[in-house]
Amino acid sequence: MAQCDNSSVPIMDKRYKISDIKVSIVKTQSAGADYTDHAAGHWINDTIIANPMSIYNTFQESRSSWGMDVLKGIFIEVSTEGGHQGYATAYGGYISSWIIKNHLNRFLIGADARDLNLLYDQMYRAAIPYSGQNGVVINTIAGIDLALWDLIGKVRQEPVYKMIGGKVRDKLQTYVTGPEAKLAQDWGHVGSKIPLPYGPGDGIKGLKKNQEYIMETRKQVGDDYRLMIDCYMSLDVPYAIDLANAVREANLFWIEEALPPHDLESHKIIKEACPWQKWTTGEHTNSRYGFRNIIRDRSVDILQPDLTLCGMTETLRIAAMASAYDMIVIPHCSGVYAYNFGISSTLTPFNEFINLHPKATEIVPIFGKMFTNEPVPVNGEVTLTDLPGFGAELNTEVELEEI
Ligand SMILES: [Mg+2]
Repeated sequence: MAQCDNSSVPIMDKRYKISDIKVSIVKTQSAGADYTDHAAGHWINDTIIANPMSIYNTFQESRSSWGMDVLKGIFIEVSTEGGHQGYATAYGGYISSWIIKNHLNRFLIGADARDLNLLYDQMYRAAIPYSGQNGVVINTIAGIDLALWDLIGKVRQEPVYKMIGGKVRDKLQTYVTGPEAKLAQDWGHVGSKIPLPYGPGDGIKGLKKNQEYIMETRKQVGDDYRLMIDCYMSLDVPYAIDLANAVREANLFWIEEALPPHDLESHKIIKEACPWQKWTTGEHTNSRYGFRNIIRDRSVDILQPDLTLCGMTETLRIAAMASAYDMIVIPHCSGVYAYNFGISSTLTPFNEFINLHPKATEIVPIFGKMFTNEPVPVNGEVTLTDLPGFGAELNTEVELEEI
C-alpha cells in the first residue's frame, strides 16, 4: 500500500482545527444512544425476549439480568480553535471514555475535522491490536466520527444529509419495532417488527408458543402489511429452519438476526434451507470488513448497520458496497443519525423506529430526553429540518458526568 504523507499541511482553518474532545457518561436514564438504559419494567429489558443468554433459565425473564444494559451511553463533544462544537451521543460508557482519553485523542487534537477519512483510518489502524475489529472500540471511533460530521455541518451551516448527497425523498417512512404491532399499523407505519419470545432452550413448547404468537399477530394486522420478527442472535441453525417453516404462512417480511453475527457459515445454511424467507442482520456488525463478508455470501437479504455503532463515514462505505449488489440497507435504530443517512439513501425504502416508550403504547424519541428536538414519526413519517449538522439540540437538563 502506498505510504500516506500528511506531513506538509498548510495553515489550517481554525474553524475546523480540533482543540478539545470531551467525553461524558449520560447519567439521566432513558437518554442517549444506549437504548437499553431504562427503569425496571421497560419492555425492551424486562419482558421475555429470546437472546443469546436465554438458553439459561435464570437469565430468561429479563435481558437486564445478564447485563445487556451495563455499558451506558456517552456524549462526545469536539471543539475547535475557532470556537465551534460538534457532538454525538454514542455507546460504550467508561470503556469508550478511557480509549478516547488515553489513545484516540492523539489523532484528533490539532487535526482538521474535515479529514474524516484520514482520522477514521488512523484511529481504526491504531486500535487493530486490541479492537477485535468489531464492538465497543469500533463503536467509540463511530461516535467520534458522528461528532465530527456534526461539527462540519455546523461550521458550514448545512445538515449532514446535504453533505452526503442530499435528499432522495421528502419524508422517511418508518416501521416500528416493539410488542404493539397492531397499534403501529394504526398509527400509519409501513410495518411492525415484534421481538421473538422463545428460543432453542424452550424446546418444542416454546416453538409452538412462538408460532401461535406470530400467527395471531399476523391475524391482527392482516395479510397486506409488513410483519417482521427480531430474534436478537438467539437461535441456532436447526431452530431457525424449524421456526421459518412453522411460520411460513405468516409471510414474514423478514426474520432478523436469527444467529450471532460472527457465524456467517450458518447464515448461509439457513438461507439455503429457506430461500423463500428474507433474512437480515447487521446491527452487531460494525465495519465494512464484516459487511463485506455478509454481502459476499448473499446469505442475508437486507443489511442493518447501526449508525451509532459504525459511524457515518463507515456506513457510507458499507452502503456503497451494498449498492453494487442491489442490497437494501435499513439502518438499525440510531435516531437522527439513521434518519440523515436514510433520507439520502436510494437503498433505504424506509427506516426503523424503535418504540422506546416503556409499554410501546406512545411515540417517544429514540434517544429519549437527550435532545430537545429529535424528530419522531407522525402518521408513520419522519420529516427532517434543515438545521445544521445532525440537527439535534442537546437538552441541558440531561445530566452528563465528564470522565
Ligand atoms: Mg434487531
